[in-house]
Amino acid sequence: MSLRGTNQEFGRPYNRRIVLEAIRQHGPVERAEIARRVGLTVQTVANIIREIEELGLISGERAHKKSRGSPPMSLTLNPQGAYAVGVHVTPLGIEAALVDLAGAIVAARRLDISPPGPEESFREIGRLVKGFRAQTGGRLLVGAGLAMPGPFDVESMSFVGPTTLESWRGVAVAQRLSDATGLAAFVENDMAAAALGESLHGAGRNVSAFYYLYFGLGLGGAMVKDGVPLRGFHGNAGEIGHMPLVPDGQLCSCGNKGCLERYVSLEAFQRRGPVIGRRAWIAEAAPLLRNAIVTIENLFDPETVVIGGIMDDGLLDALVSAADPLPTSVADRKGRTAPRLMRSAPGQNAVLRGAASLAFSGVLSPRLGQTDAPANDPLFARSRVA
Ligand SMILES: [Zn+2]
Repeated sequence: MSLRGTNQEFGRPYNRRIVLEAIRQHGPVERAEIARRVGLTVQTVANIIREIEELGLISGERAHKKSRGSPPMSLTLNPQGAYAVGVHVTPLGIEAALVDLAGAIVAARRLDISPPGPEESFREIGRLVKGFRAQTGGRLLVGAGLAMPGPFDVESMSFVGPTTLESWRGVAVAQRLSDATGLAAFVENDMAAAALGESLHGAGRNVSAFYYLYFGLGLGGAMVKDGVPLRGFHGNAGEIGHMPLVPDGQLCSCGNKGCLERYVSLEAFQRRGPVIGRRAWIAEAAPLLRNAIVTIENLFDPETVVIGGIMDDGLLDALVSAADPLPTSVADRKGRTAPRLMRSAPGQNAVLRGAASLAFSGVLSPRLGQTDAPANDPLFARSRVA
């Protein structure tokens, strides 16, 4: 996304976000450089920097160089300048974390409510956020992002079957989250949130195009290009678990037969594992996983496929090993710099960080075509400088 400021009066909140985003992307960076990048005058940028510095969102450091006059300030984000809450709701329970501006998890809590109903969930989330707020030291808590299994708004697939939250049908999730926490609230499906978290803070940081294969209770995925998950027309792209890979196979909750996630998913492991054992399940899942990866590579041509999710780390590692060697595909080429298949950063933090980053970007980042400020805008309400 190109960052350009606007000279229109209503654009002031937008310009603050533009400048903050330029510092996030390019910091440490000097103000003259920011002005060049965003197309605003140095004076306007200097005013905005003073405001967001007063809010504690950035910090400056003078380079030690021997020249006359004071050297220019180099500006970076202040990681402890603001916080957001990331929440992940699955049929297995609720996880929540307080995340700082740099994406570090400052505090995390897990509630084993299975499956969590909406009433209980929002009550508990409200309680957790109250606790997190006490840990921010009075700094800005910008909002809350909630990730949950998708797809959304598909009659025969949303809130249907064991990998979804069946009792959440018709719940106005963002509104309820905002009511429960008093924060600006954002909702996303968990695989897209995980892909976002992985691209900002995990294995996806060092590649520009990767496919994130997400083991929730079901199986999903998202192609991420330059930090942006490809979402499709309705935001439901990536329901790879419902690729019918086994002709005339097991009946899936979506109504089709032989869907991948009936065989390769945490739900499949929990159902089949106790019957045939862990090793046998991995051996059974591996050929289908290989086919899925080859299909992904041929469709999207990613630099690498990253596997992660809420499945335990040992089982994910075992699946990655069992998928080797991979059959040929467009990814099977000389001169590769990344392996075809990679594990995500260990642990289950990608979803929580991704969910929190929804709140950071929703409140603090410039959005294309939106130049007005959201309600309770921290960059507007708390700054008084023109
Ligand atoms: Zn299906």
